Amino acid sequence: MKHLDELSFDNRFARLGDAFSTEVLPEPIEQPRLVVASAAAMALLDLAPGEADDPAFAQLFAGYQLWRQAEPRAMVYSGHQFGGYTPRLGDGRGLLLGEVVNAAGEHWDLHLKGAGQTPYSRMGDGRAVLRSSIREFLASEHLHALGIPTSRALCVTASSTPVWRERQERAAMLLRLAPSHVRFGHFEYFYYTRQHEQLKILGEHVLASHFPHCLTQDEPWLAMFREVLERTAQMIAHWQAYGFCHGVMNTDNMSILGITFDFGPYAFLDDFDAGHICNHSDDTGRYSFSNQVPVAHWNLAALAQALTPMIEVDKLRQTLELFLPLYQAHHLDLMRRRLGLCTAEEGDEELVQRLLQLMQQGKATDYTLFFRRLGERAPNEALTIVRDDFVDLAGFDAWGRDYLARSAREGSEQAERLARMHAVNPRYILRNYLAQQVIEAAEAGDYGPVRELHAVLARPFDEQPGMERYAQRPPDWGKHLEISCSS
Ligand code: AMP
Ligand code: MG
Repeated sequence: MKHLDELSFDNRFARLGDAFSTEVLPEPIEQPRLVVASAAAMALLDLAPGEADDPAFAQLFAGYQLWRQAEPRAMVYSGHQFGGYTPRLGDGRGLLLGEVVNAAGEHWDLHLKGAGQTPYSRMGDGRAVLRSSIREFLASEHLHALGIPTSRALCVTASSTPVWRERQERAAMLLRLAPSHVRFGHFEYFYYTRQHEQLKILGEHVLASHFPHCLTQDEPWLAMFREVLERTAQMIAHWQAYGFCHGVMNTDNMSILGITFDFGPYAFLDDFDAGHICNHSDDTGRYSFSNQVPVAHWNLAALAQALTPMIEVDKLRQTLELFLPLYQAHHLDLMRRRLGLCTAEEGDEELVQRLLQLMQQGKATDYTLFFRRLGERAPNEALTIVRDDFVDLAGFDAWGRDYLARSAREGSEQAERLARMHAVNPRYILRNYLAQQVIEAAEAGDYGPVRELHAVLARPFDEQPGMERYAQRPPDWGKHLEISCSS
């Protein structure tokens, strides 16, 4: 374990030079206080949990101090936002502080979000509000605990610095960790500005740092693109299987590592609804829950376009065709597990799709609780309990008969089935209303609730005595909260 001041850095991205990022110092926020820290994320940097109690911790992550080896820089990128191309975006309010190398030899980017204005801020104030910082913190650490590939979050620091959104709020900072902050939009920026030399340098950096095994392939660039596509398909399969709606799938929010990135107005589904739009500003539903699959494919095509100087178009096309089958296979695999099925049978895809259609009809089935309850008792008994949440009862009973027959062919003991299903079906999920409650407490200066919710959501599959209230369906007021894009 290390002390806060003992971290070692190796700033590979910074060394790429000024074509890729600009040196900018963080602008501190006033009266910083630590809101919440993740011991699991600290461990990635070899930091003991107690380091968060050091007053220097809040100082560092509020922009007052820097490690000697840090090289804070704002990255340049562009991207397709809601389908239209924006030629220049970049880190408008976040800084890559540097890359920490841990004892295992892993590199972790330290990215301070809300660190003040940069050359890429456009009209923005360079700040992040407490509300959105808490939301990103909770989601990052929770998705990780659910087994969904994601960036991580080390801590949130609150302040007295006022910022204006729809109302006056307070500035906060979030420390994000990821093996890389390179987005699809990085490649698009160098492609569309016709800086093909820099495009190659960027790609070679990503290859060497994050896809070194592709370097030994016949066509390293193509191998890398294929892997980005595979990882993205896996990530989307997880989102769909667990009811996660990202909300802003612009190409500048798509990580080259296929990890969930840039949390905005995201939501986990409460009642299942394939058409759910979690982003209040998404008028056409471009990023609705079910559209996440075609949109990911579209985003990969946008990345492929940016790689045309390095990879033959036909090969990119062929690779893109792999997306849907890969996604479907991962999704079916995850859904089988959620249904307690270990083997694969011909009719499984249809069994899953019929279930989702039944849920869709009534829009009254709590997507998380359904699977948890299904595992809690033997299939025949469980079906009579979950049945109440369906509208087409005849349809559900027919599905239930097929599910019973299918489960019987698995032939597992109920105790073993329960353990297996509970290990993949969370009891606790980050519902918007839970986030809303702890945000309101934190805005009033009480950080107890956000810390407790974080602790509960870090072990989503475990029964946690005394924490039952976090496993409830939302109250009526909490069902249709409008989460805006402003952050
Ligand atoms: P996002 O919606 O957070 O993915 O951000 C899209 C773009 O807007 C990125 O280039 C951000 O850096 C920039 N941006 C978002 N909020 C702000 C802000 N408050 N100040 C400056 N830039 C911002
Ligand atoms: Mg973004």
